[in-house]
Amino acid sequence: MMAGYDSVVIGGGIGGLAAAYTLYKRGYRVLVIEAANRVGGVIHSVTTPEGFTLDCGPNTLGTKDVRLWQELIDLGLRDRITPATRHGKRRFILINGKPVEIPSSPVSLVTTPLLSWQGKLRVLAEPFVKNEPASADESVAAFFSRRIGPEATARLLDPFVAGVYAGDPNQLSAAAVFPSVWEAAQRGGSIVRGMFKKPKQAKPAVGEPKMRSRTFSFRAGLAEWPRALARALGSGNVLTGRKAVGLRNRGDYWEVTVDGSGEIETITTRSVIIATPAYAAAELVEPLDSSVASALRGIPYAPVAVVHLGFRRDQLSRELNGFGVLAPSSERRQFLGILWASSLFPHVAPADRALTITLAGGAIRPELAEQSEEALIEAAIRDNQQVLGINGQPLLTHVTRWRYAIPQYTFGHRERMAAIERLEQRWPTLQFAGSYRGGVGVPKTWATGVQTGERVAAALDAQGTTANTLEQARG
Ligand SMILES: Cc1cc2nc3c(=O)[nH]c(=O)nc-3n(C[C@H](O)[C@H](O)[C@H](O)COP(=O)(O)OP(=O)(O)OC[C@H]3O[C@@H](n4cnc5c(N)ncnc54)[C@H](O)[C@@H]3O)c2cc1C
Repeated sequence: MMAGYDSVVIGGGIGGLAAAYTLYKRGYRVLVIEAANRVGGVIHSVTTPEGFTLDCGPNTLGTKDVRLWQELIDLGLRDRITPATRHGKRRFILINGKPVEIPSSPVSLVTTPLLSWQGKLRVLAEPFVKNEPASADESVAAFFSRRIGPEATARLLDPFVAGVYAGDPNQLSAAAVFPSVWEAAQRGGSIVRGMFKKPKQAKPAVGEPKMRSRTFSFRAGLAEWPRALARALGSGNVLTGRKAVGLRNRGDYWEVTVDGSGEIETITTRSVIIATPAYAAAELVEPLDSSVASALRGIPYAPVAVVHLGFRRDQLSRELNGFGVLAPSSERRQFLGILWASSLFPHVAPADRALTITLAGGAIRPELAEQSEEALIEAAIRDNQQVLGINGQPLLTHVTRWRYAIPQYTFGHRERMAAIERLEQRWPTLQFAGSYRGGVGVPKTWATGVQTGERVAAALDAQGTTANTLEQARG
């Protein structure tokens, strides 16, 4: 039998690695089991022979979380961070086939062509519109239509939800997707009034490093972060190419059955963190609690296809200065958004080249993500030409398809989370992390992972033994 561990973390995405590193820093013996042959999960960066850096999953980090900055510094990544250029503040929405800049100040909200006068007045009236008693679970579309009006919801919220969640605003739960906005409306009778009544938060203890922008990446792409976490944990403590296929509780310890290319082994551990996507967690939990397994299975994932196109700069008929353009569903485009990657992060393309990222699919039109590579590339080239005014054919094309890209916080999501929490309370040494709880972005998934690690540390501290004493007790 292998030596026992204080904790086995199943899944080496950012959620699992954050949980593992939290425990490791406190001196616990941790093992990460990752099914793929690399860590990072959907965070995957590739450098091409032509000198492009492609982020095939997430491509941008945005956070104000000082603990996250501190961790990046501790991991030695300070010099690897690449802040976004000032262009990153300019974001566009496609209206009648043309990118229109999103207002970034109250003055530009008044002058923007994004909304009609009636639409603008309706947004400004939000504090004075009575908040009807909230239904148990209201959709994002219904909630925002009530609060800021249908036009702003269709033109601003819909593309935002497409860009972040690849989601359908009619299916997503407002309370689960926008908990602080939802709570503000309940607290203050309007979002704006509720924000003013927000309970004061304690000031952060560590100083935030000075950055031009809080939107950033790393020189060799986002995968630098999970790789650095795996390095810090030590190669012997991160096993790739091993899939957890079984989980059993044995009283004061757990057995995790692991399949490494047909070779089955059983690992004993005092605690387990399941940091896989929800559907994979459901398989592991089924023998322990089938109702929690069905709650996990009830979390749908939207598929997304990511198409990178590289061009010569002289193919651009105008400068692409901005973050990118999102398409509201009303525009009926093939793409959810086109990101102007080399405008945001010049290092991702050689100096005389430009790189764009076209995202297709999502919850509303999942079939688009399942088209052939050729069809995806053809559609992306057409959209880049029509919407961005790029001439000719790209010199680089690259397609990544994520069948299960982004978890959807649909109706009933809070109840599903409550079922998981009940299981965690029953077994404090079995905890869950991942982007299906606490927010879908990388920084939020990282924070959920850290919190999970802290809960497990508390459970282990309460037991008082260590992996070695457990092993000794068993002889
Ligand atoms: C296309 C795309 C674009 C995105 N863009 C952004 C962005 O720009 N900014 C942002 O902040 N967020 C973005 N996100 C969201 C963000 O990347 C994810 O929410 C986050 O990285 C998910 O991390 P995770 O650890 O929960 O899951 P994952 O990254 O999915 O990791 C889970 C891991 O568990 C492993 N696993 C599964 N089953 C088992 C098993 N039985 N045994 C062992 N291992 C197992 C998997 O192989 C995987 O490595 C994007 C996501 C996608 C897909």
